Amino acid sequence: MNICMVGTGYVGLVTGACFADFGMDVVCVDKDATKIAALQRGEIPIYEPGLEEVVARNERAGRLRFTTDLPAAIKSSLAIFIAVGTPPLQDGSPDLTFVRQVAEAIARHMNGYKVVVTKSTVPTGTGKMIELTIREKNGKHPFSVVSNPEFLREGSAISDFLRPDRVVIGAEDPRAIEVLKEIYSPLFLIDTPFLVTDVASAELIKYASNGFLAVKISFINEIARLCELMGADVHAVAKGMGLDRRIGPKFLHPGPGFGGSCFPKDTAAAADLARQHGYAFRIIEATIRVNEETKARMVEKIAAAVGPLAGKTAAVLGLSFKPQTDDIRESPALAVVADLLSAGARVRAFDPAAMENAKASFPDILLARDAYDCADGADFLVIATEWNEFRALDLARLGSLLKTKALIDLRNVYEPAEIRAAGWSYTCVGRQ
Ligand code: NAD
Repeated sequence: MNICMVGTGYVGLVTGACFADFGMDVVCVDKDATKIAALQRGEIPIYEPGLEEVVARNERAGRLRFTTDLPAAIKSSLAIFIAVGTPPLQDGSPDLTFVRQVAEAIARHMNGYKVVVTKSTVPTGTGKMIELTIREKNGKHPFSVVSNPEFLREGSAISDFLRPDRVVIGAEDPRAIEVLKEIYSPLFLIDTPFLVTDVASAELIKYASNGFLAVKISFINEIARLCELMGADVHAVAKGMGLDRRIGPKFLHPGPGFGGSCFPKDTAAAADLARQHGYAFRIIEATIRVNEETKARMVEKIAAAVGPLAGKTAAVLGLSFKPQTDDIRESPALAVVADLLSAGARVRAFDPAAMENAKASFPDILLARDAYDCADGADFLVIATEWNEFRALDLARLGSLLKTKALIDLRNVYEPAEIRAAGWSYTCVGRQ
């Protein structure tokens, strides 16, 4: 089957490459000609473990192509996936301009029956908008609109895509449901649950899922705060909670707040969507507020540990919003960097993958070669993103490079007793 993936970013590229791995003929389209030229040269524009191999394998097999020619890709495909960005506007609502543009292009260039599938995260009602847009501009050819939200996580996107907890298909047309089932047929063979719903419910499942996960993170961050005030240990509390199967252990790790391209955007969009329907989604609104406060609290923690920040040099390890990605969108680590700079500190930073991306937003920070170069001559050390390589640092060497042996571990990577026994001043989140 011929598939067109419009938008070749984190989601479009992973999804397109994996569909090709399923045996489909996939053409990935992007309006960013530089990105497409790089992909045509075999260069992968994002850091995502395992992606390069899947792309190379399928390109070699002739099942995966890259182009900027959207009209031709629409014409040659039965299923057209929309995986363009839906960034937040000032009021928290997602900007659907790109989605609308693609719907208009489909209407203009379709040459027969098409299944139009939304992979981008979009508010409930977007499927209807796509349908109206296409119908208005092209009443001639039949088409079906499907919502197929994506749940992959950056950093483990390939395995998430190939072994998902579920595939959600929001569609009302049996013909379109069959097309989607055919595309995902390898996942049927491994008994992946398929949930077929109406379009509006599928759209809401994505916001409800991300909203709930964000609630869990803000919840444990508030518990961490309580632990600090009351002398308890958040890890013990999280473990005790997580062993209850009704709660589960995931997403109960305290830290500097949630970030990334999804949770902040999707919680804001969910709150906005509710408001548009005359309802205040109070749990999500509180979750967003707690997250903002959690992020802001980190620089206070640092100042409490090392004293006034003006004139001091911070060595910051980790800039991406989580390990195993170069994505810095809404990264809590960068919020910490910004707060350190506003407090008059200088920042030296190191990240295994995200330094290129961070350089554009923070031209004034000094980017180091590795963790030790980062610490060299700095006043104190901050772990802002828990890359594995920061879990086994040579603490003696780091201590000799820093002006003071002060570590502010915003991801609770180290054991307080051990590191203090090695003579460090150690500050973490939700533990004494
Ligand atoms: P991204 O910014 O990495 O990629 C989007 C791509 O779309 C860009 O390359 C952009 O150039 C391209 N684009 C925009 N308008 C276009 C047009 N008219 N024609 C062709 N290409 C166009 O974004 P992403 O992280 O891949 O996210 C895409 C969507 O998937 C968003 O709605 C996001 O919320 C959702 N999503 C993201 C993730 C994630 O982990 N990144 C997970 C699940 C869902």
